[in-house]
Amino acid sequence: MAATLPVRRRTRAATVGGIAIGGGAPIVVQSMTNTDTADVAATVAQVRALADAGSELVRITVNTAEAAAAVPAIRAALDAQGCRVPLIGDFHFNGHKLLAGNRECAQALAKYRINPGNVGKGIKRDPQFAVLIEQAIAFGKPVRIGVNWGSLDADLLARMMDDNARAPAPLPADAVMREALIESALGSAQRAEALGLPGERIVLSCKVSVVQDLVAVYGELARRCDYPLHLGLTEAGMGSKGIVASTAALAVLLQQGIGDTIRVSLTPEPGGDRTREVLVAQEILQSMGLRSFAPQVTACPGCGRTTSTYFQELAGRIEAYLRAAMPAWRDRYPGVENLHVAVMGCVVNGPGESKLANIGISLPGTGETPVAPVYVDGQKTVTLKGDRIAEEFEALVDAYVRARYGGQERVDALVPPTRTVPIKVVV
Ligand code: SF4
Repeated sequence: MAATLPVRRRTRAATVGGIAIGGGAPIVVQSMTNTDTADVAATVAQVRALADAGSELVRITVNTAEAAAAVPAIRAALDAQGCRVPLIGDFHFNGHKLLAGNRECAQALAKYRINPGNVGKGIKRDPQFAVLIEQAIAFGKPVRIGVNWGSLDADLLARMMDDNARAPAPLPADAVMREALIESALGSAQRAEALGLPGERIVLSCKVSVVQDLVAVYGELARRCDYPLHLGLTEAGMGSKGIVASTAALAVLLQQGIGDTIRVSLTPEPGGDRTREVLVAQEILQSMGLRSFAPQVTACPGCGRTTSTYFQELAGRIEAYLRAAMPAWRDRYPGVENLHVAVMGCVVNGPGESKLANIGISLPGTGETPVAPVYVDGQKTVTLKGDRIAEEFEALVDAYVRARYGGQERVDALVPPTRTVPIKVVV
């Protein structure tokens, strides 16, 4: 029942530190640190955590001379740990000075992010922008021209608002603002190319914090250029609000084939886990069938037919088991990220979903015979009973992974015997 995937927008092909972007390459997951970049140890630890979680590019703030001086040490420490994730430098206001004044920093970064609204004011803007582009040319680096709603070029916006006011049929102010975002990105890209930066080294983004505005801006941006686009809803917010808003915005655009890299800009809880934004980005792409990062667990929501918590506990346990196993499995079992496991609460939908999964279990609902049939590649292979269902199902999943992705053993050779002890936890 595989549905047709969206046709990706055709773009130029760029490369960032060996990672292909655009030109049909897989959509890349990106994240950003929130440590003080001058603190080498803290930044290395967080970049490492983000990369281990699956971030394929990591952006770091480069806002002071100390931060710029720390960048080569951060790169060296990551390399020494075998972590090759490309680092992107985020520059605002003084980026021209920091890049021009620190060759090691300019060299250690894989890409420069430049915000045209924060490059400089008045007559300083163009020469400072030129310095940034000259550094990118000199060091052979790509650039993301990253426009942000909160720091839109004020001169450009004022000029466009004035022009609009004089127009015979003025547009609403928000339409002019959206156009100013696009104009800032495209105009800056044009200037960068005029300065000598190849178009294949330019990525664009136009981030806003309102879902419908983001969809409208990127739809228009995609229509008017062929640069790869980095997607993200800026200031998405905390918790479920941030996740839902980001998913809503990104899913609409991705479904239109728009987007070559993505970031989910979640505000973490104080002391919260920064890697959550990576997992959410991966889950957006995987749930849309655009990429695979980790085995997926299909679990029903439960209802009045599941009167114990056993089924939820098993679904959670299997998910945690798969996540914990992935670092070792990723290299050992190529393709294991496509594994699909089903954990269902009763016979209403349980067997059906289990048959669609690579391996699935259907637990008994209220009043049903206390047995749990297991399906492997659509066939019922064993019925589990008793108080060790979780362990036995984990062993079956493990065996399946070894057989399917390791090519070593047959699945049915590892099927445990059917147990006869009645399940106690399900009533
Ligand atoms: S599969 Fe069964 S337990 Fe799960 S939601 Fe459907 S009816 Fe309820």
